[in-house]
Amino acid sequence: MTDPKLRDIERKIDSGVSLDRADGVAMLQTQDIHTLGRLAKAAKERKSGRDVFYVLNRYINSTNICYANCRFCSFAVDESKERDRAVRMPSDEVFAKALETGINFNQIHIVGGHDPKQLTLDYWLPLMRRFKEALPHVQLSLFTAAEIDYLARRHRLSYDAIMGELHGAGLDNINGGGAEVFSPRFRAAVCPNKVDAAHWLEIHEVAHRRGVASNATMLYGTIETLEERVEHLIMLRESQERSPGFNAFIPLAFHPDGNELSSHGWTSGLDDIRMFATARLMLDNVDHIKAYWMIQGLKVCQVALAFGADDMDGTHGSTDEERIYHSAGTRSGQYVDDREFRRLIEEVGYVPVRRNSTYDRFPHDWAPPNHGVPEVKQALRPSASTPPAGKAVGAPHDRVSAAAEDAVGAPSN
Ligand code: SF4
Repeated sequence: MTDPKLRDIERKIDSGVSLDRADGVAMLQTQDIHTLGRLAKAAKERKSGRDVFYVLNRYINSTNICYANCRFCSFAVDESKERDRAVRMPSDEVFAKALETGINFNQIHIVGGHDPKQLTLDYWLPLMRRFKEALPHVQLSLFTAAEIDYLARRHRLSYDAIMGELHGAGLDNINGGGAEVFSPRFRAAVCPNKVDAAHWLEIHEVAHRRGVASNATMLYGTIETLEERVEHLIMLRESQERSPGFNAFIPLAFHPDGNELSSHGWTSGLDDIRMFATARLMLDNVDHIKAYWMIQGLKVCQVALAFGADDMDGTHGSTDEERIYHSAGTRSGQYVDDREFRRLIEEVGYVPVRRNSTYDRFPHDWAPPNHGVPEVKQALRPSASTPPAGKAVGAPHDRVSAAAEDAVGAPSN
């Protein structure tokens, strides 16, 4: 150990004392990356042992139309100015996209812009019920707190009332986006038109009290200070104490292409790794730290598993629908084969575990029973199962054959 501050931090951890602001900043600054990794890896193993999680999911950005004008955003489109880039999917299209490569998945993850014509209860409640009826094995991981704040204001409903509507229609989990950095200084400069920190936290706490789980994120790598990053983590930890329900924290590295903050460039690999380890050690009451391959890339995320992360997120299916990070320059593809997740996890010496949004476990080869819903059968015509060419990340096999395995009627355990 070459950094004496890490020795003090280790003593606190051994005594069960939560780490404070100074500890967090010290970890984000340390050059003793090996000791930091050892501490974070031990913390991960106390939480989840040898397990590392992944999910077979579908990821869709149903609309990119948004007028919030966050300065880091490369995704949002003003419909009146960039009509050719604007996407607003009818609900039938969202449903069909989710089924493009079969029904063997356990989560559908959808987020989008603050689109006045799509972000309404009239659009979402029937679609959510349709998913639940057709795909009862699939958990709905929909919206961010920013979208829910927009919905609540638009329908003049309290957070509790809007959550009651969404939960009643089948919402299982709220996505962690929209948190950015909680600092008022940051939000005033970067995302002044988005839900503020207090309301972001309140929405998640209301959801948790209603039995809806959620995740949390932080966007790092722009104008925030290290102190503001640590303060963000502490605010999440305190929120989790008040109203438990955050399953995972996901550090989101800033991507610079096509937005107003592009001069900040890409985060470095060391910054990413310190961020994973620091999050693991600061958030002692959050079970999972997610290394999301779409953001930091598969290789950094594999290394992150040795620095406190215990989740690699999901396959995304083979649709072509992740737009947020692809608009901002990610070099990641659109999906990862689940066999590739297992290979990467096992190479680190851990045990891959298939999960859903709420971390229920599934055998790797689990498949849903054929429940015979006609519109699901219709959506799974053979021609609809062919994935786009050249989009895979690390796919070790022919994706079409995997899609065929996913079809209705596949053997179930
Ligand atoms: S980050 Fe979200 S809320 Fe902000 S402009 Fe982009 S889509 Fe809109």
